[in-house]
Amino acid sequence: MRITQTRASFFLEFTTAENTCSQSPILEIKLDGPPETLKEPNPRWVWCPGPLIVGAGPSGLATAACLEEKGIPSLILEKDSCIASSWKLRTYERLRLHLPKQFCQLPFMPFPPELPTYPTKQQFIDYLDAYSKQFSIKPLFGMGVQRAEFDESIGFWRVQANDLEFISRWLIVATGECAEAVVPDIRGISEFKGQCLHTSTYKSGEDFRGKKVLVVGCGNSGMEVCLDLCNNEAQPSMVVRDKLHVLPRETFWCSTFRLSMWLLKWLPTRLVDGILLVCARLILGRTEKYGIHRPKIGPLQLKNTTGRTPVLDVGALAKIRHGQIKVVPGINHFTETGVEYVDGRHEEFYAVIMATGFKTNVLSWLKEGEFFNKRNGFPKNAFPHSWRGENGLYATGFTRRGLLGASLDAHRISDDIASQWSSKNILQM
Ligand SMILES: Cc1cc2nc3c(=O)[nH]c(=O)nc-3n(C[C@H](O)[C@H](O)[C@H](O)COP(=O)(O)OP(=O)(O)OC[C@H]3O[C@@H](n4cnc5c(N)ncnc54)[C@H](O)[C@@H]3O)c2cc1C
Repeated sequence: MRITQTRASFFLEFTTAENTCSQSPILEIKLDGPPETLKEPNPRWVWCPGPLIVGAGPSGLATAACLEEKGIPSLILEKDSCIASSWKLRTYERLRLHLPKQFCQLPFMPFPPELPTYPTKQQFIDYLDAYSKQFSIKPLFGMGVQRAEFDESIGFWRVQANDLEFISRWLIVATGECAEAVVPDIRGISEFKGQCLHTSTYKSGEDFRGKKVLVVGCGNSGMEVCLDLCNNEAQPSMVVRDKLHVLPRETFWCSTFRLSMWLLKWLPTRLVDGILLVCARLILGRTEKYGIHRPKIGPLQLKNTTGRTPVLDVGALAKIRHGQIKVVPGINHFTETGVEYVDGRHEEFYAVIMATGFKTNVLSWLKEGEFFNKRNGFPKNAFPHSWRGENGLYATGFTRRGLLGASLDAHRISDDIASQWSSKNILQM
């Protein structure tokens, strides 16, 4: 097979919009012609000499930067019109990084020293914009990948987005653990006449001032949305159905996350869990008193075995203690004006906010049967083996370890591709 395009001309032939949400994408493509072995009539083939990355969130950007550092050109396809669209378009205003900034920085670029330990959403977005500028990352926007499949006859990935087909030896999945909102089908939900939204479309408690709001779900987002509602003089109730661990974000002036990472260097997980729970009891008190029961298994062990993250409290628990956030049981069914709980009580609400999490979207577009689990859309192999599949397939950002996990993936993937990369071999096969 003869490849007719060079790395330089490939980049010259693409013109993308700047990394802002306001501009619509511009794409100009000239093709010299597809590889000779591709005989089917497809009007618009795009040959990618380097890896193709799907998704321009932090994981995709980190991987592109690591590849760039090794002199390997990559191309990112992004369905939305900007980088980091999950952060720019689908998060609430009061959001800050949950973990200290040194655990959230992407490869080769620390956060500016003047930023607080927990940067705000806007500070994180500014950091990501600066990051993509620093590494000259220019994704193709408005390119939602509808299908990707490895073509054994030519030994390449064929990736369809809009009316184009991209052809690459390497496919890097960076579409995120939180690609789609999960909204449970609770009986009668369509009958509810009030406002019903998911946390991904919730912006601020200001819209609910003075109103009774039911928040369904009690993870980090559910707790923070309740706190935000409280701070805006709304009256939130939070549905707590399952057992969960709530830990203080800071334990004796040290971030709980940093403390647990440090302890894990010397102690087994069970012992670290024990220490964390004693600290949580001293700082937060017995959460059971407020209807929040702890699972039998410790927070880190639970995270390792099920992926469930403990809630890092940023003030919601104090509001629960003072009765400003009500803890309510599971929902039996919705009515026109509110809900009936499993204990038979009925309560009216102005709005319902679903803090019911997210799921991946990989299974809807990636056609392969080995690497991703058909049940949950995550790689079958757990961290630290979740980044590499067969035939040049990679996944970044699916470790359930946040941005730290994404950075580790980015390094591993770029090292692996670099070991196969040789411009002579790639451009002239
Ligand atoms: C509210 C919230 C707070 C968080 N806080 C922290 C924190 O403090 N620290 C931490 O380490 N982690 C945190 N996380 C977890 C995680 O780090 C973030 O979700 C992070 O954005 C993950 O980056 P990502 O690139 O893997 O996924 P995303 O940011 O979701 O990016 C995926 C990108 O892929 C695009 N895409 C999806 N499907 C397609 C397709 N078919 N074709 C083309 N493009 C597609 C999306 O539009 C998106 O731009 C948080 C998560 C949430 C939800």
